Amino acid sequence: MSFTPLNEAKDKYDVIVIGSGLGGLTCANRLANAGHSVLLLEYHFKLGGLATWFKRKSHIFDVSLHGFPYGMVKTCKKYWTKEIRDSIVQLKNIVFDNPQFSLKTTFDKTNFSNLLVDRFKISRSVVDSFFETVNKMNFYDDLAMTTRELFEKFFPGRSDVHRFLMEPITYANGSTFDEPAITYGIVFSNFMNKGVYTFKGGTDKLIGLMGEELQRNGVTICTKAKVDRVVVENGKVTGVAVGERIINAPCVVSNSGITNTIYNLAGREAFSEDFLGTIDKVKVNNSSCQVYFGIRSGEVIPEIGDLLFTSTSEDFSSEEMLNIDTKSRTFSVYYPKTRPDEKDDYTVVASMNADYDAWASLSEEEYKKAKEDMIERCFVDLERYIPDIRQKYDWVEAATPRTFNRYTLHTKGTSFGTKFEGLDVSRNLFKALPGLFHVGSVGIIMSGWLGAINYGVIVANDADAYLRS
Ligand SMILES: Cc1cc2nc3c(=O)[nH]c(=O)nc-3n(C[C@H](O)[C@H](O)[C@H](O)COP(=O)(O)OP(=O)(O)OC[C@H]3O[C@@H](n4cnc5c(N)ncnc54)[C@H](O)[C@@H]3O)c2cc1C
Repeated sequence: MSFTPLNEAKDKYDVIVIGSGLGGLTCANRLANAGHSVLLLEYHFKLGGLATWFKRKSHIFDVSLHGFPYGMVKTCKKYWTKEIRDSIVQLKNIVFDNPQFSLKTTFDKTNFSNLLVDRFKISRSVVDSFFETVNKMNFYDDLAMTTRELFEKFFPGRSDVHRFLMEPITYANGSTFDEPAITYGIVFSNFMNKGVYTFKGGTDKLIGLMGEELQRNGVTICTKAKVDRVVVENGKVTGVAVGERIINAPCVVSNSGITNTIYNLAGREAFSEDFLGTIDKVKVNNSSCQVYFGIRSGEVIPEIGDLLFTSTSEDFSSEEMLNIDTKSRTFSVYYPKTRPDEKDDYTVVASMNADYDAWASLSEEEYKKAKEDMIERCFVDLERYIPDIRQKYDWVEAATPRTFNRYTLHTKGTSFGTKFEGLDVSRNLFKALPGLFHVGSVGIIMSGWLGAINYGVIVANDADAYLRS
């Protein structure tokens, strides 16, 4: 795919999209489909944002392709292409291993219900009633109930059941027991619908197909183009500044984080005191750490699960999961089936939730040591499942919240946008500053691959209505 050099972009477009995460890509594509001229500006040299990959030796490492709900099939069919939809396949081998229980699951409602009844000895009627409650949850629900209250209502005192239901969702969107139950319920029921899915061919294939579709639909794409400022005149958006260059557009959609968009791109001066009061209460979500293992060509590793939620911590705690030396991580194992067109390659990615401030405060020397220690802890954990891993790997490296911050510019390297209160700010941004929209991970619910893509469609509809009005 070849991109347009910035100096060849026109001086004026109907819409400028800042950032090419899944939300930005989808929004740009929908707006081009609706007949608007669209310029997509991406800071990195690649498209995809956090939906990214990198190559080392013969390995391709996927950063955020660990699993998404079945809803992606419908969304990609409707808003992207048949080829994209047809590459979505199920991951059937999900494993939990912790001091409270070890089990395998297909991560869908039928299998979870049976495990809750047979393994955790919960009565069928309680399980049915729990699923009925979470299935009915929607965006407009009462926010008073927290996830902790939801679990205590159905499974009082059962910390093992709480862990079984909560741990994967804490990895998937950073949510905790003390947040509105809908942030848990909506995402959990999305997964329970039909299990966990992945993209056959890897992130590189998906983003390549999306880029080609954007170009077919006439979107001008410039990479290595960092937007420095959203230009505001007489209380309305009129374009963006990229270095010395001003490019005009009556509508700008920012896929940069909501806090970045408001504080750094538009600037506080563009908003009323009232609106700023709301924004200043928005908390960003946690960041991540990862350790990437490449298995030497010709070596084979056993089937240990597609996703392995492993922890040696006695109890589940979302706070424990944020510690630098957390004992909880997910191993995603990429067998040769992940990229059937490539020569056989095995990679394993350990993912951990992480707190940006803890990593940001380290000196360079402490930082290097903390990364080495984290790699060692992941080796020790992985040896429990692949005892000869140290003989089989030929690449290992780590990413931290500082890495995510550097590559995406996200405030505190956030992996999932903001906590719930950010969603309202994002939805009302264009009312506070006409012509400026925000798309992408926000409010826990609109995060992850499916959330970001679906939000891209919603925001494209808003921007289209604004442009036509
Ligand atoms: C380690 C990790 C694992 C994850 N695992 C999963 C998973 O298994 N399943 C799942 O569904 N989700 C997962 N996620 C979350 C998912 O990847 C994200 O929610 C989703 O990809 C975010 O999309 P987005 O639209 O918000 O944009 P982002 O991916 O956040 O991209 C924003 C883009 O904007 C660009 N940008 C920012 N500022 C500027 C600027 N000033 N000028 C130009 N460009 C700019 C950035 O460079 C970036 O490309 C994971 C995330 C992480 C970090």
